[in-house]
Amino acid sequence: MRPALLHHIHQLADDDLPAYVYDLPGLREHARTIRTALPERVELLYAAKANSDPRLLQALAGHVDGFEVASGGELRHIRGLFPDAPIAFGGPGKTPAELDQALDAGVKRLHIESEHELRVLSAVLGERTADVLLRVNVPVVLGSVALAMGGKPSPFGLDPAQLDPCLDIVASDQRIRLRGLHVHLASGLKAAAQLALAEEVLAWAGHWARQRGIDLAEVNIGGGMGVDYARPHKMFDWPAFGAGLRRALARHPHLTLRIEPGRSVTAYCGWYVTQVLDVKFSRGQAFAILRGGTHHLRTPAAKQHDQPFEVIPDDSWHRPWNRPEARDEPVTLVGQLCTPKDILARRVMVDRLRVGDRIAFAMAGAYAWNISHHEFLMHPHPTFHHVDDVEVPVPDTYACRTS
Ligand SMILES: *Cc1c(COP(=O)(O)O)cnc(C)c1O
Repeated sequence: MRPALLHHIHQLADDDLPAYVYDLPGLREHARTIRTALPERVELLYAAKANSDPRLLQALAGHVDGFEVASGGELRHIRGLFPDAPIAFGGPGKTPAELDQALDAGVKRLHIESEHELRVLSAVLGERTADVLLRVNVPVVLGSVALAMGGKPSPFGLDPAQLDPCLDIVASDQRIRLRGLHVHLASGLKAAAQLALAEEVLAWAGHWARQRGIDLAEVNIGGGMGVDYARPHKMFDWPAFGAGLRRALARHPHLTLRIEPGRSVTAYCGWYVTQVLDVKFSRGQAFAILRGGTHHLRTPAAKQHDQPFEVIPDDSWHRPWNRPEARDEPVTLVGQLCTPKDILARRVMVDRLRVGDRIAFAMAGAYAWNISHHEFLMHPHPTFHHVDDVEVPVPDTYACRTS
């Protein structure tokens, strides 16, 4: 953990805990690394659903080409913060009202999930026009991945056979412009696998377009770049991925390629900081009970993993009895919820863990607070801190990346 963050965490009072602490300079640096690794012709959108905290979005705004949203709520949120940012609106089950809202908000791309959705769009268009990508469940064979959205029966996107009826609709409606295809098939891939998938998708898309006599201008290959919670320092290899995309793009000289990662962008900038309330032994096994729990940080429950953490020792102990502790043994870290599922890390070796010590859970910047069931048991919400030791002016409007 960076010293500035550690310093901030030391300053927090017990009653400030649990706390979400966000590393804004770290996020900017990470986003810069990603952008730098990508070829110029690759547009980088951030998938807002990973974490739509306004300060994080503002830190990202100068480094991404726009945002991907998946609901009317996210669309309103992003538009409110960045009046001019390019937005792509995807996701299944868009309501007629959301499509109408998207057209009024001037979204740059609509990702169409089904023939019916395309017909609804046509019905609500009126005088307006729409630029669309058809989302396809491209027939690829996916190995084992954390989350598979395609390559098998799936509620996401269109089967290839359903594309032709969509082409007929587009051909009969001048207001709808087909720009290309969208393919988001899997989450949790390493760079080499992600690249192989991208190449397969591009080859398939190029073949499909040639067969149909379509000028394929754009392909969005989605997000899902892997984040390894068991090895926090093993990050997605953006330079290798970028170099591979550059090679792949050489075979498609007129194509604009777009990616829309979420988790791999913001996961690392967030810390969930809490405190050991109790240490106890049950049939010989050590348990540490922490302030808060999976109602604040649902990620380890949702993904069934051990959330990585650092222990921040606190030496102040003023009680007249022995301080409960675990030493050199595996400890299970649990929260305050009355359910056996409230586990943040299971039987992880610690040197020493005492009541009063602080625990900083790493990689809590994406799919963390915003996917958690906050109201369960009515515990207080955490406090939120955006640490910005490098004073960088926060843009109040979205500045488009100029290159
Ligand atoms: C969730 C989602 C993303 C982002 O996925 P990550 O795994 O967070 O990178 C991108 N595109 C679509 C269509 C999604 O549903």
